[in-house]
Amino acid sequence: MAKEKNNASFSNEVILEIIRNYSNDTIYFKDEQSRFIWNSRAHAAQFGINDPKEMVGKTDFDYFPKDFATRARKEELEIMETKNPLISNIEKLEKADGSVIWYSASKYPVFNDKGEVIGTWGISRNITALKTVEEELSRTNEKLKRLSQIDDLTGLFNRRYFYEMVEKTAYQYDRRRSPGEAEDPKNTFSLISLDIDHFKKINDEYGHSKGDDVLRLVAGILTSQCRKSDMVFRIDGDEFMMLLPDTPLKGAKVQAERVRAALSSSPIILDDNKPTLHLSASMGISSYSENSNVAELIRMADDRLYTSKNIGRNCVT
Ligand code: GH3
Ligand code: MG
Repeated sequence: MAKEKNNASFSNEVILEIIRNYSNDTIYFKDEQSRFIWNSRAHAAQFGINDPKEMVGKTDFDYFPKDFATRARKEELEIMETKNPLISNIEKLEKADGSVIWYSASKYPVFNDKGEVIGTWGISRNITALKTVEEELSRTNEKLKRLSQIDDLTGLFNRRYFYEMVEKTAYQYDRRRSPGEAEDPKNTFSLISLDIDHFKKINDEYGHSKGDDVLRLVAGILTSQCRKSDMVFRIDGDEFMMLLPDTPLKGAKVQAERVRAALSSSPIILDDNKPTLHLSASMGISSYSENSNVAELIRMADDRLYTSKNIGRNCVT
């Protein structure tokens, strides 16, 4: 007996009314002209309408901004024509007050007994909170990614990002090379490996913290000598790298000489009681046109830097 009573309590009409009144998702049925036939209370409530029956005969154009309603109608025409549903479509609604609501919406064709399409029905869930968290997460990820590329001390790019960027740049130039065509001398990139001369003396004489100040100053000087497309990296200690796109070896030499001149002509005062410091650096350059193996290209620039050190420092090899 109890079972029968339960079944009666859960009649189709009762179930439909429960869905209509208590579903938090918005649910609707539309005819072929996309006019509402049936709406859930949550659907009506988003337009400030208490009784969903008021919406019967109306369309999205009566409630939503024109572009939103136009897109919805287009989707429904397609669903009715193809008889294929649209599942979990992410929709963005920009309201007149500037606020944004995100929905995950599914829409389906409605068939009559003969299997003919007579309209559509749909169910949408407000996923704005989820989207907000997702966007926040993606911003945090972007920030973390940028931080993972940066050297803490100087704010320049770091060693890890240097290796990533040389590989990436080499790949881009490989792709740009057209086989059989005369080589464009600018279609290459170069590296400058740089190490400050006698940097240990600065640490020893002024302390590590002043040494850090010098590294930051050097970072500023290197950056100021660069084109926008050049990249400056701190590899380790007093070692830096510059990556120069669209620059052959000759251009890299000019650039390295410019950096060398800028460094040696920038007086540095770390302590008023001590003489003004003049920095110098030794450099080695290499170009992708000389060697297209990235590891060897880096080694060439480093070897040449050590040649510069060996022949007396403050020079470019
Ligand atoms: P050279 O002309 O041969 O390059 O001599 P150098 O004295 O510059 O010696 P080298 O380049 O081999 O060593 C660099 C020194 O930089 C070693 C270390 O004491 C110092 N150093 C490394 N990292 C840091 C840092 O983060 N801050 C400071 N202040 N010093 C550092
Ligand atoms: Mg050094």
